[in-house]
Amino acid sequence: MAELTVSIVTPERSVTTTAAEQLTAPSVLGEVGILPNHKPLLATMDEGVVGVHGAEGVEYFAVSGGFLEVSNNRITVLAEAAESAAEIDIERADAAVKDASGQLKVLAFGSEEHTEQSSRLRRANNRLAAAKLAAH
Ligand code: ATP
Repeated sequence: MAELTVSIVTPERSVTTTAAEQLTAPSVLGEVGILPNHKPLLATMDEGVVGVHGAEGVEYFAVSGGFLEVSNNRITVLAEAAESAAEIDIERADAAVKDASGQLKVLAFGSEEHTEQSSRLRRANNRLAAAKLAAH
């Protein structure tokens, strides 16, 4: 059976390149599942958890927006930031949730800082969700 080759990259680094049987990813239009021999696709991604399904189970990655490209059984996830579940620093994400939540209480809704802190809160919650999925 054909296999997928999945690469997750950010502007800073290559997070993983690995063979997979299936990929699940958060596109802005909803969760997508990609199997081998999928037609070419270019999708915008939301913050969310990417699942790389392989022979030995699923590996989870926290991804903060970007693009997903599928072509000839090669999948590239180009993300603003991405971490494997094992790389996620839970204490840092917990601290970011607390700090961002505190700031959101006092910042004016609609201000640039408010938008920035709500994105930061979403990223941190997403990191915690990816770490939790991997722990099960
Ligand atoms: P923080 O508020 O903790 O700085 P952030 O959401 O502002 O988090 P980003 O701007 O999304 O951070 O990412 C900056 C860099 O830090 C990226 O390389 C990202 O992979 C890394 N990073 C952010 N939070 C974590 C975390 N909890 N564990 C591991 N790496 C993280």
